[in-house]
Amino acid sequence: MQVDASLHVFSIPLRTRFRGITVREGVLLRGDAGWGEWSPFLEYDDATSRPWLACAREAADVGWPDPLRSEVPVNVTVPATDPERAHAIVLAGGCRTAKVKVAERGQELADDLARVEAVRDALGPDGLVRVDANGAWDVDEAVRAIAAIDRAAGGLEYVEQPVMSVEDLAVVRRRVDVPIAADESIRRAEDPYRVRDLEAADIAVLKVQPLGGVRACLRIAEDIGLPVVVSSAVESSVGIAAGVALAAALPELHHACGLATVQLLTDDVAVDPLLPVDGMLPVARAEVDDAALDRLTAAGDRVDHWRRRLDAVGNDRSS
Ligand SMILES: [Mg+2]
Repeated sequence: MQVDASLHVFSIPLRTRFRGITVREGVLLRGDAGWGEWSPFLEYDDATSRPWLACAREAADVGWPDPLRSEVPVNVTVPATDPERAHAIVLAGGCRTAKVKVAERGQELADDLARVEAVRDALGPDGLVRVDANGAWDVDEAVRAIAAIDRAAGGLEYVEQPVMSVEDLAVVRRRVDVPIAADESIRRAEDPYRVRDLEAADIAVLKVQPLGGVRACLRIAEDIGLPVVVSSAVESSVGIAAGVALAAALPELHHACGLATVQLLTDDVAVDPLLPVDGMLPVARAEVDDAALDRLTAAGDRVDHWRRRLDAVGNDRSS
């Protein structure tokens, strides 16, 4: 493919290991409407990465529907870290809702309980605590763990993807009192509407890149008929802006969104990084900072890797 000055490959270290990675890489594409981000995770195949590119092209070439609100509430995200660090992350985040990673491989339920207790302590009684297990439990483990974590948290807002399959999610939902949110069961499913058909969740987590962009997510939100939480794929501010555009365009928004994840990165490509103030993110596009682009450009072999990948997925504006 052509070497394109409107295409940049970035590499940004994470502050804490997150879903097994320590560096976030991706491509920034510039089109008539502005910048778009394409950052499918490294293990994703071409077919899985294609909707992620549709999201980037929508951002770069078309732009987004008009917003219905000027700011969106967000949660602070707490990785599977120790209680002291979790406490500090919540205090620094300034958000009234915290999403805590649980069921991390190599950790015990006791680690989750200690982390969640520390988060509740940092938030105070009025804050909301939600947890995300990324499908790591089986049904019985989930039922037991959710009850224990709900007690440790002094009440949970919801638990996200406690088990992986939609069928199991439906079973867990009938055995616990805590509301269930579906994430992987929507974005990695062949049929995102099985969650609706099996009444497997109370809340739908939507991510703009894996689901093909803002308009595609607005359609899913309408058809799935559940309250929506817009969440990130740990993008730079360019990618986060697309999630913010979705949250701003939803007819109703009842929950804080998982879009305050720029703070998980050590640096950012934007002039004004999309970081929350008093738990709110402004509805705005990210303006790319040339100096940051230079500073964060990936090494040559990684640039080649991403160009090959983009070629394979098909960076074809006519499609
Ligand atoms: Mg999740």
